[in-house]
Amino acid sequence: MGTMTSTAVSVPMPTVPRRRRSPEEVHSAAPVTGPRKVLLAAPRGYCAGVDRAVIAVEKALEHYGPPVYVRKQIVHNLHVVSTLEEKGAIFVEENDEVPEGALVVFSAHGVSPAVVQSAADRGLRTIDATCPLVTKVHREAVRFAKDDFDILLIGHEGHEEVEGTSGEAPEHIQIVNGPEDVDKVTVRDPDRVIWLSQTTLSVDETMLTVNLLKARFPTLQDPPSDDICYATSNRQAAIKKISPSADLVIVVGSANSSNSVRLVEVALEYGAKASHRVDFANQVDEAWFEGVSTVGVTSGASVPENLVQDVLNLLAQYGYGDVEEVVTAEEDIIFSLPKEIRAALKAMGDSSRGLGGRGQRPAS
Ligand code: SF4
Repeated sequence: MGTMTSTAVSVPMPTVPRRRRSPEEVHSAAPVTGPRKVLLAAPRGYCAGVDRAVIAVEKALEHYGPPVYVRKQIVHNLHVVSTLEEKGAIFVEENDEVPEGALVVFSAHGVSPAVVQSAADRGLRTIDATCPLVTKVHREAVRFAKDDFDILLIGHEGHEEVEGTSGEAPEHIQIVNGPEDVDKVTVRDPDRVIWLSQTTLSVDETMLTVNLLKARFPTLQDPPSDDICYATSNRQAAIKKISPSADLVIVVGSANSSNSVRLVEVALEYGAKASHRVDFANQVDEAWFEGVSTVGVTSGASVPENLVQDVLNLLAQYGYGDVEEVVTAEEDIIFSLPKEIRAALKAMGDSSRGLGGRGQRPAS
């Protein structure tokens, strides 16, 4: 006869939801001495590469009809992904989840040659929505690997972009996550070493890593042109300007969006007293506003402007209706849509829409 054992089962206590105070209550309760205002960063939000990738999926859905498979999140934003899912996009992690012969879009973050090959092996039809600025880094990796350089790729191990770039020349590339990795780097010939980087890093931290690498390898070569992209640098420059005057900086962007997460870090480094990232306005916590006069607001490069406007509307209800836009750069970069989409549009007789860029410019 078996022994009966009793297992203690912990039953979670029912939680009483905390009552969310009305914006008016928060407004009157927050002990603020100065006037309440918002400093709104510009540039913010959609970059040309994200815009192009999202339009590519939309056009693929229009032209070929659903389902259109997308390998990985097309861009790192929950709202964008769920909106495309509603239209018939199916997001998968790997090509082997896509039925043979079906259409798959590669995300803005890029793919390694092995992923391209696995799609070909399955007979998949592909649309490559890799951002041209990521493709540029891939080309640099191929070129310097061909010249037999050791390539130090500064970036976050496990990030899709870093996987794609390092897959171009795995035998030549070492990933350097940041300053803490510099001492672990080993190279074959210190005079044939170049650094490249992920496009969405902190500009300041990357330069710190580069300077430490140069202390070890004085002839370390720089990339032929900046790998951190214009959108990442511009959004960081804008929040650097705002942060010293901000009691609180709210960054709209998803947790897996590298450039959004960097904006929170940069805001804190440059003097914001607090900074939080939210996907949606309903994640803004009323407790953040205690004693806050000035709120900085920005958004990552994969964030549609309507999500920022939702946050601004909420802030206005909290008494922060005075919005000053702080413009540190104008952006007018537009990329051509992927060639497969351009061909499809041409076949539909639509030759006027071969460009990405649908006016996500900040309101002035
Ligand atoms: S953040 Fe930069 S690299 Fe990434 S999609 Fe946008 S422009 Fe391209």
